[in-house]
Amino acid sequence: MLILTLATSLMVNPSPERPNIVFFLSDDHACAAVGAYGSRINETPNIDRIATEGTTFDRAFCSNGICAPSRAAFLTGVHGYINGVEDNGNSFDGAQPTIATLLHDAGYTTAMVGKWHLKSNPTGFDYWDILPGQGHYYAPDFRNAQGTRRVQGHVTDITADLAIDWLETAQDSGQPFLLMMNQKAPHRAWMPAPEHHHLFEGETIPEPLSLLDDHASRGTAANEQEMEIANHMWLWYDLKIDPDEGTPLTGPDRWARGRYKRMNAAQTQAWTEAYGPRNAEFAAAELEGDDLTRYKYQRYIKDYLRCVAGVDDSVGRVLEFLDDNNLAKNTIVIYASDQGFFLGEQGWYDKRFMNDPALRLPLIVRWPGVATAGSRVDAIAQNIDLLPTLCAAGGANVPDRVQGRDLRPLLEGNRPDDWRDAIYYRYVEQGVHNVAPHEGVRTDRYALIHWPTHNEWELFDLETDPHEVCNIHDDPAFADVQRRMHEALQQVRDHYEAPDMNATAAAAG
Ligand code: CA
Repeated sequence: MLILTLATSLMVNPSPERPNIVFFLSDDHACAAVGAYGSRINETPNIDRIATEGTTFDRAFCSNGICAPSRAAFLTGVHGYINGVEDNGNSFDGAQPTIATLLHDAGYTTAMVGKWHLKSNPTGFDYWDILPGQGHYYAPDFRNAQGTRRVQGHVTDITADLAIDWLETAQDSGQPFLLMMNQKAPHRAWMPAPEHHHLFEGETIPEPLSLLDDHASRGTAANEQEMEIANHMWLWYDLKIDPDEGTPLTGPDRWARGRYKRMNAAQTQAWTEAYGPRNAEFAAAELEGDDLTRYKYQRYIKDYLRCVAGVDDSVGRVLEFLDDNNLAKNTIVIYASDQGFFLGEQGWYDKRFMNDPALRLPLIVRWPGVATAGSRVDAIAQNIDLLPTLCAAGGANVPDRVQGRDLRPLLEGNRPDDWRDAIYYRYVEQGVHNVAPHEGVRTDRYALIHWPTHNEWELFDLETDPHEVCNIHDDPAFADVQRRMHEALQQVRDHYEAPDMNATAAAAG
């Protein structure tokens, strides 16, 4: 009888000291817009607090630089050609093991709020409340197991409200909890909440050094893309500059009116008060050429950073909840983004390219008793490492197929001798922004990129050329580096069991 009672109690709560997990996964939040990564353009005090109290990974990379594939890789610990999500059009097979299903099976209570973007319904979560597709900034629809409803307010605030409401119940569940709070912000089209409309008013945000770069040394892909601030931003949709009455709308501007119509009267008034004078100034200035590009950069970056400010506030609210409810000491807190973003580097917005502004992602971990406060790790991490890390922390099984590795030794200041010295990257989506399929390998210093449809290669030395504007692939002075990086690419292809990229690109085209 005693044995039975003990067994029952172990099953209900097998290890009461197991840590809770709060995983913040934002959308398109570049390291260049995080204080802890040395931002020159904004402040993120709440995210920085996680860094001050934990570990910051300086070389964390995505596996594929768009939303759905990176999210699927975070969830499954394997690359997209294994989990079935290689582009944003694929639907996630929820029957496969994920961070949520594995921790749920191990006794965690689990929740997911915000941007999901994997088409199929979330699995492994006791509670989920998600944005259909990309979601909206104002009056967003949310979908849960009961159906879809429209929620008044701004998406960043609502997502944090849902997270905190769930934490209120989870803390009394008698189980350790996993919360994923996936903010939609700061994803395009960067529509900040009213309280941030006037942030950076009258300021000039520093430009990246490569804002006006002409891609002269780069390959065909960099010269045929459609993600230039100068030429591929839409005045209304992206830059919030209203068209004159009767102007025919093209491209994404056709969707802009619907976005604004979701605002209530007070929100519309606040928006008009903030953006109306800016738009009047723009109309009067009649800018052209580089002056116009610089102006567009300012409009774009300020709205992006206003959305980041909202994300940072939302992180602060959850951290405060953990403090106020005596949960912080036994909760792992992770801040990450699905990938980075071009904030004007190379003249671009968006992501996709295997260059650092998009490839690198913020990864910051506060883990009481494990991560040393204020420490930094330069070993190479990737989105596929989160599943093995969190499953090991929670006492859950790590499936054999998992390709990532447990980050815990790095957090404890010990780099295993056999830790990876390179990551494999692969992008196959073709369509929006016209970025050709590519694969590549990134080490601590070099990036080698293969463009199969153009039969071209690019090689960058991040130490001497941190802005990646100088392709040295065919420079005889770097012949040895070129040879070694081609070997490194073949090694990561083999190690991560990557299908042949020439065939994949040909099929995608
Ligand atoms: Ca994204």
